[in-house]
Amino acid sequence: MSLWDGAEITVLGAGVAGLAVATALAQRGAAVTVLERAEEIREVGAGLQISPNGGRVLAALGVYDQIAAEAPASRAVVLRNHFDGAERLRMRLPDPGPGPATLMVHRADLIEALAGAARGAGVQIRLLQAVDSVEIEGDGQPVIRLLTGGLLRPDLLIGADGLHSPTRRAVLAGAGAGRPFFTGQVAWRTLVPGRSDDPPEASVYMGPGRHLVSYPLRGGRLRNIVAVEERTGWTEEGWHHADDPARLQRAFSNFAPEVRGWLGEAREVYLWGLFRHAVPVTWHRGRAVLIGDAVHPTLPFLAQGANMALEDAWVLVDCLAAADETGAAFAAYQAAREVRVRKLVTGATANARAYHLRPGPVRTLAHAGLSALNRLAPDAVRRRFDWIYDYDPTAGAWQAVAEARTQAASSTHTGT
Ligand SMILES: Cc1cc2nc3c(=O)[nH]c(=O)nc-3n(C[C@H](O)[C@H](O)[C@H](O)COP(=O)(O)OP(=O)(O)OC[C@H]3O[C@@H](n4cnc5c(N)ncnc54)[C@H](O)[C@@H]3O)c2cc1C
Repeated sequence: MSLWDGAEITVLGAGVAGLAVATALAQRGAAVTVLERAEEIREVGAGLQISPNGGRVLAALGVYDQIAAEAPASRAVVLRNHFDGAERLRMRLPDPGPGPATLMVHRADLIEALAGAARGAGVQIRLLQAVDSVEIEGDGQPVIRLLTGGLLRPDLLIGADGLHSPTRRAVLAGAGAGRPFFTGQVAWRTLVPGRSDDPPEASVYMGPGRHLVSYPLRGGRLRNIVAVEERTGWTEEGWHHADDPARLQRAFSNFAPEVRGWLGEAREVYLWGLFRHAVPVTWHRGRAVLIGDAVHPTLPFLAQGANMALEDAWVLVDCLAAADETGAAFAAYQAAREVRVRKLVTGATANARAYHLRPGPVRTLAHAGLSALNRLAPDAVRRRFDWIYDYDPTAGAWQAVAEARTQAASSTHTGT
């Protein structure tokens, strides 16, 4: 007898987190409904790097091969000088052997594969279900109020409703994680045509006050670009603010010729402000729990937001399967996840500062140091990220708890 026998489970949000957790539950026999406000399951045109830690979850859900058929497997992350593209550091990614590689994935392909798996496992995906608010009653009963006025009272609610999560507001119940604050950085994203002979690697062009990340997608036919600039003012957080490509081109007009060439082909460009969010101390209340960006939105500088969402989904289902009471399952889930998540969110923040050094002695020294490291110990940098990529969330919730404890003991040595 498991916690979900005879239970009605509702997942709010059909993003990476929601579709992954719904699929994992349904594949183990649960009856799951996903509520999504959009009129169709679709994603913005942009890329994601799914590293082996997230890839292991995709493999366990049975969708890894479908995604890998189109997504180039990354061989390296290369740090470059902004003005001439010269290599400063090449972080070679190890040959994954039979295990998952780091995939450079079009977001729409990931969502399509997950939605197919969810439906195949019997998940009901209900579209046009915009949720106005969520409440958790005194006995722990979650109540969902739809914008249309309808009320739903599921046995269990999983809030996978992203950055502006109504479930998060109910779980935190006023004892919030503080207001998000603007980091002083904005980011553009765009897709441009690629070439099938482009090397399968991610390049980071590091300039004073700005940097640009680019990698190929869909067998090289497309190129993903995320360009970050420091700015003093911005008010909104979100992915969908269209901008004029000329502004992006101007901001990066002193970057390497290949960068200027890519940006010259940009037609549809989006700009958004980057905000920092504190990870809350409460991840669940009553019979409601949070996963993915709903609980720990992160800056994109370690490329781990979607990977963490996949990890959360698998570990939560493992914890529900191992416990005989919902509160205990949610507490085990938070214990298994919290230390790792905090370390990743902090690490992503630190990376942005390192990329944007201004001209002067610190930048000269830092770049010389990177070049020396590149010559003398090319794999040393990569090994600093092993704790991210080697983690296997599918190895069992109890291993996850043990790993969380080990990471707690070593969390003073982050430095990524
Ligand atoms: C520029 C950039 C680059 C990134 N690159 C990477 C990367 O390389 N690798 C990586 O791992 N991560 C990356 N990320 C992070 C990653 O995109 C997010 O962490 C991830 O998509 C979060 O997934 P989610 O399912 O938790 O939330 P979301 O994708 O936001 O999904 C939430 C869903 O809930 C629905 N919803 C919300 N509110 C309601 C409501 N009231 N009613 C009904 N439905 C609702 C939404 O419509 C949406 O479908 C990047 C992020 C950015 C900004």
